[in-house]
Amino acid sequence: MRHIAIVGSGPAGYYTAEAAQKQWGDDVRIDIFDMLPVPYGLIRFGVAPDHQSIKGVTRRYEQTALADNVRFVGNVKVGQDVSIAELQDLYDAVVLATGAPRDKDIGIPGDHLKNVFGSAAFVGWYNGHPEFAALDPDLSGHTAVVIGMGNVALDVTRILSKTREEFAGSDIVAHALERLMASKIKRIVILGRRGTHQIMMTPKELGELGHLSRTAPWVDPRDLPEEVEDALLEPGIRKSVTHLRSFAAIPESHRADLPLEVEFDFFASPQGLMGEGQVQAISVERTRIEAGRAVGTGEFYEIPANLVISCIGYQTSPIEGVPFDDGAGRFANDEGRILPGLYCVGWARRGPSGTIGTNRPDGFGIVEMIAEDFPQSQRKTGRVGFDALAAARKLDVVSFDDWKKIEEAETLRARDDAPREKFVDVEEMIRASGHD
Ligand SMILES: Cc1cc2nc3c(=O)[nH]c(=O)nc-3n(C[C@H](O)[C@H](O)[C@H](O)COP(=O)(O)OP(=O)(O)OC[C@H]3O[C@@H](n4cnc5c(N)ncnc54)[C@H](O)[C@@H]3O)c2cc1C
Repeated sequence: MRHIAIVGSGPAGYYTAEAAQKQWGDDVRIDIFDMLPVPYGLIRFGVAPDHQSIKGVTRRYEQTALADNVRFVGNVKVGQDVSIAELQDLYDAVVLATGAPRDKDIGIPGDHLKNVFGSAAFVGWYNGHPEFAALDPDLSGHTAVVIGMGNVALDVTRILSKTREEFAGSDIVAHALERLMASKIKRIVILGRRGTHQIMMTPKELGELGHLSRTAPWVDPRDLPEEVEDALLEPGIRKSVTHLRSFAAIPESHRADLPLEVEFDFFASPQGLMGEGQVQAISVERTRIEAGRAVGTGEFYEIPANLVISCIGYQTSPIEGVPFDDGAGRFANDEGRILPGLYCVGWARRGPSGTIGTNRPDGFGIVEMIAEDFPQSQRKTGRVGFDALAAARKLDVVSFDDWKKIEEAETLRARDDAPREKFVDVEEMIRASGHD
């Protein structure tokens, strides 16, 4: 029998488990650890609450989770409740699928000011991540600035823009919905260092921004190159640029009637945040593109900003005993191998890029590597050994059955138009699971 520990129950964790089942069938036992009592990582806490169809991928993970040889070991933080060395003693292979949960620093003066958030925190707030549920963003000001030109910046902008009706069917948590409905924000500026032809936003998500009831996005036509140049673009980017062209063509008269302005500010590099206590303005340097890179032009301007959310990427949290690549912000690894018997996968391996599906080949690849490295099982004790350790330490382990009870309780307490009302507090989750 082969024993595998997977640390992290997001997409990378579940795809790895699925691959291990395919590889070894009944000859493997898989424990999937998570520090939270609830599974699925960013599917629950990252993917936007109004994108429920994307969250449907968890049905596939549930099939894996319900197999006899797979266990969910929730509410156990690896590196704190149990060490990597202990897991390595117990399991033939340990796979870190811990994602990249920390915001990259904006690294400009004033980034410590109140009401300046990274997207991990702000998205975690509206998605009910226990660590960020108490974030308490102040939405009483006039202008929000969103930094970044990727899909997370789009998610944040859309969530700040929607009406209560437009949130129907979403699982946005109640505290965020109520705060958003009382929001006084009248203008959202999306800042990107590069230009329209370097946009990272994908067409479907960008198109959605054009269908909101309170706003019609604005792009300065002067930021768009001659249309003939679009032909040189990769097809996905070309489609995104087509959306930008359609935003630029919206007549001013239409926009004037709407209560919220959303504007794209391309070629704009944030330089500093100003304010007394709370942020009040952002200073920006105009850029131009040289060989695909944004370089400063020396022209500076200020934008009033009462709320700033930077969506510029994420990094992995280090774990004691695991070599870390500080520059890249993830575990130091060679195609997923960290140390003998220790692997990483998903965002913890390659950083925050790609879609949910990108994690699937990652999971399958890592299982092939484990099979190559350890053609024979090493006769470890696996889950029996872990259970003894958990009992000795009095760890309050949450099982997949316990999670199903939490899920049921969340469904029962949902608003009429919502699939669930998430618990945002670990203690509440544990109580709902039936533990004392
Ligand atoms: C805001 C946002 C929106 C997104 N929207 C989309 C989208 O619409 N479509 C799409 O295709 N992709 C989307 N993505 C990308 C997608 O979510 C990721 O590709 C995917 O979640 C990465 O999977 P992962 O398993 O590597 O990490 P994660 O999903 O982050 O899972 C990591 C898990 O590890 C656990 N963990 C961390 N540390 C420990 C520890 N020490 N001990 C135990 N457990 C631990 C965490 O609790 C978490 O459950 C989005 C990402 C973000 C940030």
